[in-house]
Amino acid sequence: MTSGRGDFRLDPIPCGWLKPEGAMNGRFAAGLAGLLWAALATAAPTQPAAWQAMAWNEGADDCEAASQPPLQVRRLDATTFVLRQGLCVDFEANFLYLLIGNERALLIDSGAVADPALMPLARRVIALLPEREGAKLPLLVAHTHGHRDHREGDAQFAALPGVRIVPADVDGMRRFYGFDRWPEGSARLDLGARVVQVLPAPGHHPAHVVFHDGQTGVLFTGDFLLPGRITVDDADAFEASARRIAAFVRDRSIPHVLGGHVELDVDGELYPHGATHHPRERGLGLAKADVLALPDALAGFNGFYARHANFVLTDPVRNLAVLAAALVAALALAGWAIVRLLRRRRAARAACAV
Ligand SMILES: [Zn+2]
Ligand SMILES: [Zn+2]
Repeated sequence: MTSGRGDFRLDPIPCGWLKPEGAMNGRFAAGLAGLLWAALATAAPTQPAAWQAMAWNEGADDCEAASQPPLQVRRLDATTFVLRQGLCVDFEANFLYLLIGNERALLIDSGAVADPALMPLARRVIALLPEREGAKLPLLVAHTHGHRDHREGDAQFAALPGVRIVPADVDGMRRFYGFDRWPEGSARLDLGARVVQVLPAPGHHPAHVVFHDGQTGVLFTGDFLLPGRITVDDADAFEASARRIAAFVRDRSIPHVLGGHVELDVDGELYPHGATHHPRERGLGLAKADVLALPDALAGFNGFYARHANFVLTDPVRNLAVLAAALVAALALAGWAIVRLLRRRRAARAACAV
């Protein structure tokens, strides 16, 4: 492992990342450079209320003919960024989030694109990091869950000094965050005067977590909750997770809930699966009310498909199973009809021959 300033060692886990519940961070002096950088940052900050108004490239039906940037970057404030993959780079068009503390930075998800020539994620993220005492702030690349569209970009960070990547499987997450009662409990990532709480939320994927940022109050939910298709892998685990996360947010001010994708237009209609064109896309942000509505939505889920105001619950595996069963039944029916027809013809020919 590298040993330069700000680098991480893979073992043991750097203690500074993880703070026990209730611990306070008092290292304000160490963040002076970060604050200075924030004060000097030139782009105008985007106010939280403007999440919904953030404009994103709509992609194209013919991506060969379109020329849109592979990665868009927007600022929520001087130390909070949202990045989005272009729809023409990968139809998943993931949203990634960069939170910068005084001592460290956290990237939530690395997206679906491993090749920096297609989407230069690592270069853009590192460029956004401030310097402290002559070195870029250390970066932690974490994931909401282990689906490939949320971690393929890890490859771009793997060889960079000062970067540590959190595993995207249950055992790896448990070890890194110190969860000893998964999926109960929570962990705290100390970024330096900015604490991010990590909460297990399996159900869409066995290794799913959500992140609550103590600085902005935003809840980052990945594919646990998003304005689009929420695929249910384990309904019982998902409902239990939804009840835990709802209990977490109930007494907190949560200005916005930001997921990993947007798949609905402003009228609430889903784009076709795999669409690379999102005209009139709805805003990114969901609300605390959506988090609170999720447990009952999951409790009442029919196991196949359910529309709600701002999201759609679906179980594609079950839907495929039903489709496959329907196809088998249709083929059996067609076979039976053909056999019956052939028998009738045979009987008719026999009757004519008499
Ligand atoms: Zn997913
Ligand atoms: Zn996803």
